[in-house]
Amino acid sequence: MKGIVFEGNGKMTVETVPDPSIQQPGDVIVRVSKAGICGSDLHILNHGEAFGFDHGCRIGHEFVGEIVEVGADVTSLRVGDKVCAPFWISCGDCHFCRKGLQTSCLHGGCFGFQAFWPGEGAVQGGQSQFVRVPMAEGTLDRVPEAIADDANDHRLLPMTDVFPTAYHAVRCADISPGDNVVVVGDGAVGLLAAHAARLFDPKSIVLLGHHHDRLAIGRELGATHTIDTRAGSPEDTLKDLTDGLGADRIVLAISSPETMAFAVEQIQPGGSISWVGMEVFLGAPEIPWDAAFMKNITISGGVAPVKRYLPELWPLLESGRIDPSPVLTHDLPLDDGAEGYAVMNSRQEGSVKVALTPGG
Ligand SMILES: [Zn+2]
Ligand SMILES: [Zn+2]
Repeated sequence: MKGIVFEGNGKMTVETVPDPSIQQPGDVIVRVSKAGICGSDLHILNHGEAFGFDHGCRIGHEFVGEIVEVGADVTSLRVGDKVCAPFWISCGDCHFCRKGLQTSCLHGGCFGFQAFWPGEGAVQGGQSQFVRVPMAEGTLDRVPEAIADDANDHRLLPMTDVFPTAYHAVRCADISPGDNVVVVGDGAVGLLAAHAARLFDPKSIVLLGHHHDRLAIGRELGATHTIDTRAGSPEDTLKDLTDGLGADRIVLAISSPETMAFAVEQIQPGGSISWVGMEVFLGAPEIPWDAAFMKNITISGGVAPVKRYLPELWPLLESGRIDPSPVLTHDLPLDDGAEGYAVMNSRQEGSVKVALTPGG
């Protein structure tokens, strides 16, 4: 079968990789109908060698598809089920899985990340035709019947990572009705955080970014205000919007030293800041603890336990109350995967996120 592999910094290629087979009785095999390229995959593309990726390592942690084979111990999933694969593999049964923190599963790991693979067999990547899913009953979520069709893949694929990550950020920010909310970052997670914040009835949702095309999608998805950070001063606009008091809640879809310093400066006393950006691996944000102390602020966030949130998100997706599909600006055949990486890595005008179709 075909799959995308890392072949050194700057090089992702589509190659023939071994067909997966059931290795443990809890495994299933999924035929991938749609896979996503993630911002974190760009970190692998650009810096994979520093992160310990071997050449030839399979990539991709966002995929939806259909189960085509189940292991002997799998009883709650069947051949033919349409499934969503949260990026983190989890057993469903350990202390942390039972607490709903599946990303800390004692036996878990991540698709398409060599350092986080749970240690049985070759690393499996979602950007391929088929994937072996370990601990499948703990890991996968069955898509509700009414939307379990490949035709809905553009709504379903963001549920593997970017929408639940945005939702996690919004939940950690603890929005109350009437709050002024600021979202920093106009990538897929930032845009969807603006979309998810609507669910909690804030007074305003201010999206900060510097791509006009992306800010336009943010307004479509629910941002009440957008600020081009290269054109104007966000501080002045936020002052006007909040009567000079500062934002009630700030969501950092980009977690860098600069965004954290901005957030601690702009949050009002008693407010909360959440952070979900992968930039922490490139240099941890320095939190101005003295200002944070004097303002009594809460800082919360981290890697999103997607599996925990899916049951409460499916009804919202089914009813149309959420629709994350506008962040998928491109859909290319898997064979054109290298081009998909180039589109995202160059921040090509009009691009946010690229979907890949193995059958396309
Ligand atoms: Zn992702
Ligand atoms: Zn577990």
